[in-house]
Amino acid sequence: MSNIKTASRLNIFKEYVFSRLDKEVAKVEQTNRKVLSFGSGNTDFPTNKVYLEKYCQEIKKNNAYLYPGFGANPKFSQSLINWFKKRFSVSLEKDELLPLLGAKDAVSHLPLALLNRGDEVLIPDPGYPAFSDPALMVGAKPIFYNLNKNNNFRISLTQLENKVTKKTKFIWMNFPSNPTGATVTLEELKKIVEFARKHNLLVVYDNAYSEISFDDFTAPSILQIPGAKDFCVEIGSFSKTFSFAGFRMGWIVGNKQIIAALAKVKSQMDSGLSTPLQNLGAYALDNFDKSWHKEMIASYKNRRDIIAGYLKKIGLEFDLPKAGLYIWAKIPSSEKSSEQFVMKLLRARQILLTPGTAFGKNGEGFVRVSFCVNIDKIDKYFK
Ligand code: PLP
Repeated sequence: MSNIKTASRLNIFKEYVFSRLDKEVAKVEQTNRKVLSFGSGNTDFPTNKVYLEKYCQEIKKNNAYLYPGFGANPKFSQSLINWFKKRFSVSLEKDELLPLLGAKDAVSHLPLALLNRGDEVLIPDPGYPAFSDPALMVGAKPIFYNLNKNNNFRISLTQLENKVTKKTKFIWMNFPSNPTGATVTLEELKKIVEFARKHNLLVVYDNAYSEISFDDFTAPSILQIPGAKDFCVEIGSFSKTFSFAGFRMGWIVGNKQIIAALAKVKSQMDSGLSTPLQNLGAYALDNFDKSWHKEMIASYKNRRDIIAGYLKKIGLEFDLPKAGLYIWAKIPSSEKSSEQFVMKLLRARQILLTPGTAFGKNGEGFVRVSFCVNIDKIDKYFK
């Protein structure tokens, strides 16, 4: 037995929730029972073949295997600038953007770029689990703000006001929300930017689900608010928009000082997004295939609606989300806790949902149900 001493830092955060749940699924599947997983939001709608063809061409090019260089190549920059202008009517400069190895790249590395030991960062509860632990890793303090059902899981500025201290450095904000599916209006974003200006706070706005919306809803960008670039950056994801989750591609746009700080951190962490992937990203943004996108949205919406019918059968209560990939549902009041309810369903019916507590203490009493799942055999599981 070797005596390897790992960093004490590992003790301040838990194993990532989906890694833990994967192990629970494996235990059940060892007994020859196949689990139907409504767990992670793994965008399973097949990506567009045209994009794949483009990627194949790109990896055969002469420079494809070289280090890509740090930051964006000119093609990627121009395509993201054009897309942002077309989609949100927002103008970006070349130093106001950076390609990422997935949106999670910024989620995990921004705390290193922005937070000092003892600083505070405001984080939504419930919210994307990856928002909090990177702050702990740099010795900063996550301060959670509550998103409640009574308020349709929207931001209360009065509450935020009470959470801000001299140590507050930035706010994580995510709409369309993972896990609640709540959305935000431009009017609300305007108030949030005013709030940031009043308190001299940065806002990191995670817009990973901006292109996954239903029923005539279109998600805004916080950069649409005049002056937002003084305080805000926004994160986008190719995973959700183009079903490229496995390729690990995203972007960050907005305040150039924050972007330069993140780029400096990333220069120590990785060697940039590969040239074939940057060129693929540029191509996908330039040739946004509306009919493929429409099919993808129709597929998720259809699954959302079918799954909703089955969830009602097992006593879950919820509103259908207008955006994102998840139903956020209240468990029956007879159930003791979200975790127990999830484990019971897993063992009895081989159905995996995510316990709401994976997203914060306000997730108690809720479960998150992803609709990125093959539902051909769903009936068998809910009998
Ligand atoms: N932000 C939110 C709110 C998410 O839900 C996810 C993934 O589920 C990400 C970021 C990460 O996205 P990416 O695959 O681009 O890293």
